[in-house]
Amino acid sequence: MKTEIKEIYAREIIDSRGMPTVAVTTKLRGEFCATASVPSGASTGKYEAHEKRDGDKNRFFGKGVLGAVKNVNDVIAPKLVGCCFTQRELDCKICSLDKSENKSNLGANATLGISLSFAHASAKQCAMPLYKYIGGALHAKMPIPLLNIINGGAHASNNLDIQEFMIAPVGFNTFGDAIRCGCEVYHALKSLLVKKGLSVSVGDEGGFAPNLTSESEAIELIIEAIKHAGYDTDTVKIALDAASSEWHEGEKYVLPKSGETLSGSELIARWDQLISKYPIISIEDPLGEDDTDGWKMITESLGSRVMLVGDDLFVTNPKIFEKHASCGIGNAILIKPNQIGTLTEALDVIAEAKERGYKIILSHRSGETTDTSVADIAVGVGAQFIKAGAPCRGERVAKYNRLLEIESEIYSI
Ligand code: PGA
Ligand code: ZN
Repeated sequence: MKTEIKEIYAREIIDSRGMPTVAVTTKLRGEFCATASVPSGASTGKYEAHEKRDGDKNRFFGKGVLGAVKNVNDVIAPKLVGCCFTQRELDCKICSLDKSENKSNLGANATLGISLSFAHASAKQCAMPLYKYIGGALHAKMPIPLLNIINGGAHASNNLDIQEFMIAPVGFNTFGDAIRCGCEVYHALKSLLVKKGLSVSVGDEGGFAPNLTSESEAIELIIEAIKHAGYDTDTVKIALDAASSEWHEGEKYVLPKSGETLSGSELIARWDQLISKYPIISIEDPLGEDDTDGWKMITESLGSRVMLVGDDLFVTNPKIFEKHASCGIGNAILIKPNQIGTLTEALDVIAEAKERGYKIILSHRSGETTDTSVADIAVGVGAQFIKAGAPCRGERVAKYNRLLEIESEIYSI
């Protein structure tokens, strides 16, 4: 549906790490008004759309976003206000104003704020929740949560190289039961860590961040917690995010915390051992974003046994996804709307990935706000999974609580 934009304005707000980010409010004809805010990553992929930061060391260590805010208010808004758009037309217009391949002129933090707030306001105008506006009334499907309950890598100052150790409560009929299980396992893990005298302080995504001897110890603790909470590993599986682009140096992988150096095939052998030993259903970024030969090898050798999720590899970019998917790389895609900078482009890559039989995982970022757009997008597109951190920290539980709200709306529970 085409709709007329009356007003667009952006502001600088702060995210869950106390760093600045962009919030945009869009008002449509008829006073339908909505605000969306933009998240930010720590282990960002090299080919992500450009996140515009001011670089003024006197403010927020150079991380201010006043330039991105100015781009919304002074550059983009004057070109849009008073005009009528569909979502696709708006997002195309934004891309054409930017003119670059990766939003490097206007900033993806500026463009996504406009794109998402327009979607929210348009949904309001249609008297629909966002998930229904995106997916149509019949399409809605609840995703399985991937809860990141042990944090490492760039998200924590402990000694674990793997960035995320997640639980996947796969054996439940409702999202509510899956989340309940996730919370119970999270609490059981906390008790175990306390008993062992290990730290229960949390990382950026709300998972615990203890110092442990190895990734196997982290996985074994999680399995123990699953059992203590009264579940088993048929109903609750494990998913990892290696975020291994962070380790890739030349031809080798240098794990910064353990100090180990591995070749690509040694790293693949390490993943093979782990999935043979433990109930792991998914590994995200098992190899670096530029290691396409390695990705081919791992997809051939492990792709039938486990989800191989491209995050830094695909960066939610339809062209990059197309290039890799046509070579048969990976079998699941992580969707982070701020990696590409407009909702339409994110929906386009999802459509293409579904067409090719890839699993879809919507995702938050490590730097978040209480914006819940990814929850609605996950339901709207019928994604199999959503990654929104541990059941801890307001910006993480906002997404899970929005999903509980959606589930009660869809199924009247
Ligand atoms: P990021 O991490 O938001 O810091 O990039 C999340 C992820 O790698 O999935
Ligand atoms: Zn990742």
